[in-house]
Amino acid sequence: MSKTEFEFTDSVMYVKGVGPQRAKALEKLNIFTKYDLLTHYPRAYEDQRYITPIAAAKIEEQGIFIGTLSNINLRETSRFKIITAILRDNTGSIQVTWFNQEYLMKLLHTGTRIMIVGKVKFDSWNGVLSINQINSFSILEPGEKITLGIQPVYSATATITQSVFRNAIQNLLDAMPPVKEILPAEIIDKLNLIPLDTAMRQIHFPKNEEILSRARFRLAFDELFLIQCGLMLIKRKNTIEKLGISCKKNGALVKKVFESLPFTLTGDQLKTFKTVAKDMENKLPMRRLIQGDVGSGKTVVAMLALVKAVENGYQGALMAPTEILADQHYNTFVKMLGDFGIRIGLLSAKVTRSKKTRAETYEKIANHEFDIVVGTHALIQDEVKFAKLGIVITDEQHHFGVTQRANLSRKSEIVPDMLVMTATPIPRTMTLTVYGDLEVSLIKEMPPGRKPIKTSVKTVRSRKKIYEFVREEILKGRQAYVVCPLIERSESEKLNYIDPATEMYEMLSKGIFKGIPCALIHGKIKPAEKDEIMTRFHGGEIKLLVSTTVIEVGVDVPNATVMVIENAERFGLSQLHQLRGRVGRGSEKSYCILVSNSKQGAASARLDLMESTTDGFKLAEEDLKLRGPGQFFGEAQHGLPDLKVANIFRDIEILINARDAAETFVTTESDLNYFAELRKNLALAYGDKFSQINQA
Ligand code: ADP
Ligand code: MG
Repeated sequence: MSKTEFEFTDSVMYVKGVGPQRAKALEKLNIFTKYDLLTHYPRAYEDQRYITPIAAAKIEEQGIFIGTLSNINLRETSRFKIITAILRDNTGSIQVTWFNQEYLMKLLHTGTRIMIVGKVKFDSWNGVLSINQINSFSILEPGEKITLGIQPVYSATATITQSVFRNAIQNLLDAMPPVKEILPAEIIDKLNLIPLDTAMRQIHFPKNEEILSRARFRLAFDELFLIQCGLMLIKRKNTIEKLGISCKKNGALVKKVFESLPFTLTGDQLKTFKTVAKDMENKLPMRRLIQGDVGSGKTVVAMLALVKAVENGYQGALMAPTEILADQHYNTFVKMLGDFGIRIGLLSAKVTRSKKTRAETYEKIANHEFDIVVGTHALIQDEVKFAKLGIVITDEQHHFGVTQRANLSRKSEIVPDMLVMTATPIPRTMTLTVYGDLEVSLIKEMPPGRKPIKTSVKTVRSRKKIYEFVREEILKGRQAYVVCPLIERSESEKLNYIDPATEMYEMLSKGIFKGIPCALIHGKIKPAEKDEIMTRFHGGEIKLLVSTTVIEVGVDVPNATVMVIENAERFGLSQLHQLRGRVGRGSEKSYCILVSNSKQGAASARLDLMESTTDGFKLAEEDLKLRGPGQFFGEAQHGLPDLKVANIFRDIEILINARDAAETFVTTESDLNYFAELRKNLALAYGDKFSQINQA
C-alpha cells in the first residue's frame, strides 16, 4: 500500500501481521481501526537492553539471559508438573524452572537456544539457583538476531500475544506516514513538547527512559488538551454562540424574599448568590455548578435564583432526583414564597399519575400560570412546554453527564440559565474534567450552630445497646433513621449476613420500639404512600424511619438526630457521608452509628475513616482512590471518554497546563480550519462522545 493511501480509519485488518482473523480477536480489546492499534499503548515496559551474563546472576534479581538448554527434565508432585533444565552461556550455567507447562517438553530440546526474562530464586529442592519467575521467554531460531531495547508490554489476549502485538505495531509504524501535528506551535514551544510523530513512535519502542517519559508527557498532554478543547467548545457553543437572557439587578421582590428568610445567609451562601445573580444579569447563559457539602444550605441559594428569574418575568424549574426531595422543595417554596404571590407548581409522579391533574399541570406551565415548577425527571418530558423558561436548576444531580446537561437546555427557544447543585464533594481533578463545561462555586462554610455529628462504628453484637440508645433519644423527643442496604432478602443473599429493611422494620417495630410510631420506606413503596410517610415524618408524628438509601439525598428533617446504618460495610464512603448528612441539621447533638459485620479488614478501615473525619472532600478523595472515577460517577453516566495515557490523579499538572492551553486556544483561535482539524481529531479519538459540538 502506498503511503498516500494510508488512512487511520482503515480497518486494523490491513496492518501487516494482523489479517481478518486477528482483527476479529482484536475487537475484544476495542481495536477496530489502525488508529485504535496505534493508540493501544503499552501498559508496561521490559528493559531488555542489557543481557546478564549467567555468571553474574544474583538471587532475587531480575535479568535477561541468553543461552542453550540441556538436562531437560519433567518432575511431578501432587500439585505441580515441574520442568527443569540447565541454561548455559559462555560465562556459566544456571537452572531454569517452569511450573505446569508440560507442553514445553515438546518444544525444548538439548541445544535449544532461548532468551529468557525472569527472576533468580533459590531452588531448595535441588539446592541451586534457578530462574523460576519467568516473565517471558522465547525460543531463538538458529542465527536469529536479538533485538535489545526497552520492549513494550501490551494488554494482550490468548490469541494475540505480546510478540504479535510488537510485530504488528512495528509494521504499522513502518507503514505510517508522519503523524500530523495537531497542536499550535506556540503551545509546543512553550511547554517544550516533542513532536507528536516522535511521541507516538517512541511510546511503543522507546530508545531510552528519557524519551519515553517525554513521549508519555506529550501524549498525556494531547489527550487532556483535546478533551479540554471539547469541553470548552461545548461551553462556547452553549454560551457565546447562543443568546441567553439577561436579568435586571436585584429588585424589590428579591429583596423582600431575602429579608423574610428565617436566618442570615452564611458568607459563602451570600457570595455564591451574588455570583449567581451576576451570571443571570449577564447576556451569556449561566452554566454554574454549586458544590457544597450536605447541610451547607444550597437550597436557599437556588430559591433566591428562582425568585430573581421570576422577578424578571421568567419561569424557573427546579429538578430533584427523587420524589421525596421534589416534594420537600415544593413544600419549602410554598411556605417561603407563597406570601409573595409567587405561584409554585409540582410536577412529579404524584401529579402525572392522573391524566386530569397531569393535563392541568402541563397547561398551567404552558400558560405561565406557574412561576416556579419543582419536579423530578418528569420535568424533562417532551410534553412539558414552558411559556418562558428562564432558569433550570438541578439539585443533587451529580449523576448527570456533560451531554445530558447540554440536552436539558434545549427545552426552550431562549437558552435558559443553568445551575447544577451537588453535595458530592468533587475533587478538583473532577471539576476540571467531568464538570469542565461548568463554572464552579463552593459553599464551604456551614450554617452556624451546627453541632458535630458523633460517629461510631459498632458490630452487630452491640445491637441491643444501640437500639436502646435510639429509644432513649426518641423518648427525649428526637427522631431517628435506620438505613439498610437492601429492601428484602434475595435468593443469593440468603446465606450472607445481611439485614434488609423489611426484616429490620419487622424486628424493631414489634420489638424494642413497640408502641412507638415507626414506618418503613423504600423504592418499591407507592409514591402516594411514600408522600404520606414523609409528611408524617417531617411533622414529627413518625419517630423511627426504617429505610433504604431513598433518603440518601437532600431529605431535611432537623429534629432527626440519630442515624443507624446497618451493614455499613456495603456502602461507599461518599454514600455514607451523604446518609450521615441527614442528621446534624438542627441544634441538638446528633449521632451516626455504623453497624458492621466485622471489625476487621479493609471495610473496617474505611469505616474508621468515617469515625475520624466529617470532611466530605477527604472522604470523596479516599473513595476515588479506592473505587476509581468510573465507580464514583457511574462509568456510563459521566460521559467522558476513557483516558489512554493520562491519569487525572497522577497528571494533575499536565491537566492544568492542558486546560490553560485549551482555554487560550479555544477563545483566541479564530482560524476555523484549525477548529475543523481539532474536531476531526476529537472524532478520531473519541467517536461520538463529543458529537454535539459537531452539530454546530
Ligand atoms: P443542602 O446544601 O444539603 O441542600 P439545605 O439547603 O437542605 O442543605 O439546608 C440544610 C438546613 O440548613 C435547612 O434546614 C436550611 O433551612 C438550613 N439553613 C440553610 N442556610 C442556613 C443559614 N444560613 N443559617 C441557618 N440555617 C440555614
Ligand atoms: Mg439539598
